[in-house]
Amino acid sequence: MSAPLTILGTGMAGLGLARQLRARDPQRAIVLISADSGDDYSKPLLSTGFAKRLPPEKLASRSALEVADQLGAVVRTHTRVDAIDVAAGELSIGAERLAYGELVIATGAVPRPPFAIPEALRGRAFTINDLDDYRAFYAALETLRQRAPRHRARIAIIGAGLVGCEFANDLVAGGHEVALIAPESAPLARLLPEPLGRVLGEALADSGVDLHLGRGLDSLSVTGGDVSLALDDGHALDADLVLIATGLVPRSELALDAGLETSAAGIHTDRYLATSAPGIYALGDVACVAGVNAMYVQPLQASARALAATLAGTPTAVSYGPWPVLVKTPACPVVALAPRTPPERWRIEGEGADLAALAEDKQGRLIGFALTGACVRRKVELARAAPALLV
Ligand code: FAD
Repeated sequence: MSAPLTILGTGMAGLGLARQLRARDPQRAIVLISADSGDDYSKPLLSTGFAKRLPPEKLASRSALEVADQLGAVVRTHTRVDAIDVAAGELSIGAERLAYGELVIATGAVPRPPFAIPEALRGRAFTINDLDDYRAFYAALETLRQRAPRHRARIAIIGAGLVGCEFANDLVAGGHEVALIAPESAPLARLLPEPLGRVLGEALADSGVDLHLGRGLDSLSVTGGDVSLALDDGHALDADLVLIATGLVPRSELALDAGLETSAAGIHTDRYLATSAPGIYALGDVACVAGVNAMYVQPLQASARALAATLAGTPTAVSYGPWPVLVKTPACPVVALAPRTPPERWRIEGEGADLAALAEDKQGRLIGFALTGACVRRKVELARAAPALLV
């Protein structure tokens, strides 16, 4: 019997591909391998669960067992692949060697804390990038609540990008005391020009978030029962828990060690999601597809559809549309389509909290946009006029 199609990772990319492929080919042997619980969950919901006090089990729509049953696939959970032997067509899992037919790498991205988290902060400092991380942070909040039911948990969030801002909004809406610390002078600096970032910052402040922008972190330590944060402007903060949201990097070491072409943007693939090694594909946050690593859901869904068609015998190149990101900050709705190259100018329209910023190139063509407040309703009109991410 020939070796099965093997998918590394059961995030939205890995599971999405398995579903698409099963719809086209009911017979094909599929093995999914995951370092985590393998539960089917929507990662974007992680930063909306604390306002509603959603326990982790409510975020998983299906267990790994149900996924295996539904897909007619083998799902191996809590199984970390240590190496890929391209020449032999085998994976190393501890002492085990596992043959694959074709291989799809969908290992996602990993948080990138700017410093090593001190041992003394174990159980107090967190990153939240998957359901297991959410489980751990949720449990820490529950422990605090049981110890002191009337105490509002003090949470310091480091990083004011998409993940930091969404968690700040969600946790403050959940009744916690939230401080948001970042070196940039306004939130979402990679997606928004400063005036729109300030609008979001003001809305977060109005909803109760204590903003410390334009500030670096000098030190993080445990004093008595508190986590102490010393900021570089001399300010000191005490917190019960710290959430580090300083960005993600593609988890591409397996591919790098196996000799596949990679860079800081992830595993390089062509428009067919094929890596530099024959029979090995990549998609999702780990993949840099024809020079683009978007790290959002829509591109990975388009990739899963295209790769499923290719694997089922119809070679299909992926293309990405002009898909804006909807930032989940109910305090101030934000939609943004980041320009792929620095714009010549941002043209800003609107007033108060309702702003539209149009990124234009030298010829005055629209290459991206950002919207806040009531202006988010312009997203469809502007997306139609903006260039596709990958044509
Ligand atoms: P992951 O979900 O990270 O899956 C990686 C898988 O690989 C896991 O199963 C892991 O266990 C496995 N794995 C890794 N290494 C190994 C190994 N060595 N052996 C075996 N298995 C391994 N995008 C949007 O479009 N809209 C949003 O609103 C949005 N909100 C977000 C909110 C948050 C809080 C976060 C963190 C992200 C958000 N994103 C959003 C981004 C989006 O969720 C991701 O792009 C997407 O979920 C990535 O899926 P993935 O399958 O590529 O990776």
